[in-house]
Order: sequence, then structure tokens, then C-alpha cells
Amino acid sequence: MTARVASTEPTRQTVYTEAMEVFHRAADLIGLDRRVRMELEEPDYEHIFYVTVKQPRYKDLPDSELLPDGLEPLLDGSFVFKRRALINANVFMRDGVVRLKGKGLYKVVPGRPERFKAYRVQHNQARGPYKGGTRFHQDVSLDLFKVLAAEMTWKTAIADVPFGGGKGGIKVDPKTLSSEELEALTLRYMYRLKPLIGPNLDIPAPDVGTDGTIMGLLLRQFTDGERERHSLRGVVTGKDTRIGGSEGRVKATGQGLAYCIQEWYADRGSVPAGSSFLLQGFGNVGSNAAEILAGMGSKLLAVNDAGGTIFNPNGIDVPDLVSYVYDNPSNLRRTVAGYPKAEQISKNDLWDVDADILIPAALGAEITGPVAERIKVKLVAEGANGPTTPEGDRVLAKRAIELIPDIIGNAGGVTVSYYEWIQNKRMEHWSETEVNGRLEQAIKSNYRIIRDIARNTPRRTATHNSQRYCIGREMDMRTAAMVLALKRIEAHYQLEGFSQ
Ligand code: NAD
Repeated sequence: MTARVASTEPTRQTVYTEAMEVFHRAADLIGLDRRVRMELEEPDYEHIFYVTVKQPRYKDLPDSELLPDGLEPLLDGSFVFKRRALINANVFMRDGVVRLKGKGLYKVVPGRPERFKAYRVQHNQARGPYKGGTRFHQDVSLDLFKVLAAEMTWKTAIADVPFGGGKGGIKVDPKTLSSEELEALTLRYMYRLKPLIGPNLDIPAPDVGTDGTIMGLLLRQFTDGERERHSLRGVVTGKDTRIGGSEGRVKATGQGLAYCIQEWYADRGSVPAGSSFLLQGFGNVGSNAAEILAGMGSKLLAVNDAGGTIFNPNGIDVPDLVSYVYDNPSNLRRTVAGYPKAEQISKNDLWDVDADILIPAALGAEITGPVAERIKVKLVAEGANGPTTPEGDRVLAKRAIELIPDIIGNAGGVTVSYYEWIQNKRMEHWSETEVNGRLEQAIKSNYRIIRDIARNTPRRTATHNSQRYCIGREMDMRTAAMVLALKRIEAHYQLEGFSQ
């Protein structure tokens, strides 16, 4: 064997290296096997590819009321001009410019192909097929997908579902696309992805900017023309329940977070009823967590989303807010902004509202050091992935603000994705009661193991065993969650060994 000298070059600090700080901390604590550490330090595969679509984009086409059924409104407030708008129209065009009656001059932009950068990072598959969401967002990067894919490796281990970690998506703002453009882009994405994934290899799910409809399109593109296509249904999760999706999947992430919060209160001999909470993000995770918590008797005081921030000291009626955001066709951006039964405040003011719980359920890196210094809550329950920066973590710890870390807080989604995958394999359909019963048991028991690791209180009962995971010293909840993940992953390497 040849001796090697370690490089003295400093490692470049990136979002990935920053996100991996907790991994290294936990790995040091448990003396993680060196080779396992190297396996987990970087993803197995980083796929970057390009997808082209022939449909044009009409980002800046202004509003017009003249030809209503020929104009498709986009979520960014612009319109796509459909061909049928021209049926029976009397068009005069000069240099590509038309004058719409009563509306003024419009420039018609000719269609041309476009290229989008797409990704799929497969971080680790020691415990099972790669598993992780598909994000369509303008701010994605390889580094971000590496962070999110690694986080899925930890999360699937913590949820104790037999998967590894992956993540991918497209660098695009889906709000600027018509439904036809979004469909074309989604199908082309799967066309390029198909050789890299499969129901026993890598299983995408929804994430920011994607939903059950997109999963249906991905499923169709993957299975089209396959002889045994029904056996491939588990290639994506988060599908509509009518095409193989699981009951309870849409709500699962919010539901899992609510179970963690319930357990946090139970540990203090209490219940969420009578508490109050602040929310950032009113999408899938935020709105469902809010509805479930409100159902448990907790009061929503303020919400911030991409469109604005609202506040009502007497409490916001969550079902009413849900219908304002989701059932109101004129609320194209699906934002809480403008909700009439609350005060409109600035995002900055959100952090100053007194409440028991803060739920970040939007994007990453929102709870920075300065934000953590300001907030007046007892508990931060992370619904989003990576909402707290390492500096934010240090400040929360210093101020003794408790934390439910994202890898257990939002593990409900991947847990029910696993139930969906099993149902697809068995061609079964479980009731929502059955799904939620299993989810509650799974989330709460793993949450209790993490709590035991953090407090170093190993316990063994007929239904609970944290003995094998406690390491003889106390630590914060985020590190404890990572210790649980690493111990479960390491066992696969130790017991199965390396093939060479
Ligand atoms: P979503 O697209 O349904 O909703 C996102 C919400 O965040 C929207 O309300 C949007 O207005 C808000 N938002 C976006 N940018 C913002 C900004 N700059 N400031 C304030 N608010 C902003 O997404 P989602 O599925 O609810 O996911 C939210 C988070 O939860 C993400 O971090 C995602 O990775 C994570 N997550 C989601 C799931 C799931 O099952 N959907 C599972 C695990 C983790």
C-alpha cells in the first residue's frame, strides 16, 4: 500500500460544504468509519443535462381583456396568446405589431426553441433506491441539489424507509410558463432522465414548483410504450390518488410536522391547543401544517409568503385563508397578500411577532443569525428544507429556542411516499386513516429516538429502542438527528461490507 499525504489546500466554502457541517460534526462524534465517511461526503452521481422545448415563452405579454378565451393567464401575471384567439378575428399586422381593439399595440413574439438546465443528483443508495423531490425553480444550482440530495439520504434513514437520497429539477420559473409549455418541458425532462431512474433505482417526487399533475406527466412519459407499464407505477410518488397516489400524501409533510409538534408538547405534559404560531410559506407544506395545527387548537397569528405578509393578533381563520389563496381564480399568484381579514405587514415585522412556534415552510436560509436574534418564539419547527443557517442555529441554541430539525420535521412526505411506493408494488389502495395511523407511529417513534439521543437517555421498551443510538453525551436536536441517520447508514456498510 502506498502512503498518501493529505492536501493542505483549504476547502472552498459553498452552500454544500456549509450544509455538510452538521454531517461532519455528527461523524466526528460517533467516530464514523473513514470509508463510510468518504462514501457519504460526496454524491454517487451528479447528472447535469439540458432539455430543449419548441414552445416559445411570452413572459412580458401584457394583460388583455379583449379576447378572453384566447388568452391563458400565467401565474406571473402575464398572458399567453393562444391560436384560437385569432379565430374569426380580423388581424392587420405590420412589422410583427398588431393593434388590439380598444387595448393598444402588441408585439407578437415568434416561437423559437429554448434550452433549460436540468439536474438529478443521486447522493447515496446504501439503504435503498435513490429518493427525492423534483424542483422547478429559477434559483437552483448543482450545489443546491447536492445539498438537497444529501439531506434526503439523512431523511430516509431517519424516517427508517428503505431508500437513499436524490434530488433534481430544472432551472426555470414555472410561473412564466403556460400549461402547455410546462407539460412539454416536463415530458422532455423525463425523456432525458429515463435512463437514469426507475421504481427500483431512483424515485422522484414533488417539491417546490411541482405537484401531482407534474408527477402524472412524469409517470406517463416514463411508462409510455412499456409492455408492463403498470408495474412501473412506483417510478414517481406524489401522484393523484386516482392514478396510484396514496391517500394522505398531499397533506403528509404538514401532517408529519404537526405530529412532531404534538410530540414536543406531549413531552412537556401538554398539547398544542391554546398555543400560537407564525408561518412562512403557504404552499403545500405550510397551508396543510396550518390547517392541521389549527384543527389541534393552535392559533395562526401571521403568515409570510412570496407575495406578502399578513397579521391578525386575534388569529387567522385558516380554512378561510386557504380558500382565499386556493379557491379564488383572481388570486393567480396564490398568495396570502391582500387577505382582507388581516393587517398587511412587512416581512421584516413577521420576525417581531410574539408566538409560541415559528414554522418556516418556504425556501432555505431564511432564519439567519440576525433573524434568530429577533424572533420571539419558544420553538422553531422546520417544514422547509434547510431554513436555518449554521449561524442561525448557533443563535437559536444560545437563546435556548428549541428546534425540530427539518430532517424529522418534514419527513412525513417521504414516509407517505414510501407507503405510496409499497401500495404501487402491491397494487393496493390504503385508506387515509390507515396511512395517517402508520405515519403518526413512524414519525413520533423516530422523533422520540432523536430526543433520547439529544438528551443521552437511552431507553428500551417493547416498542421503543434508543439504546443503540445514544452515544454517551448530550447534543442539540439537529446533531442528534444526524447521528441517528449516520448510525443507520453505517450499519449497512458494516454489515453488508464493500464489494471491493
Ligand atoms: P410550494 O411551492 O407549495 O410553496 C412554497 C411557499 O413558499 C409558497 O407559499 C411561496 O409563496 C413561499 N415562498 C417562496 N419564496 C418565498 C420567499 N422568498 N419568501 C417567503 N415565502 C416564499 O412548496 P412546498 O412543497 O410547500 O415546499 C416548501 C418547503 O418544504 C421547501 O423547502 C421544500 O423543499 C420543503 N419540503 C416539501 C415537501 C413536500 O412534500 N411538498 C416535503 C419535504 C420538504
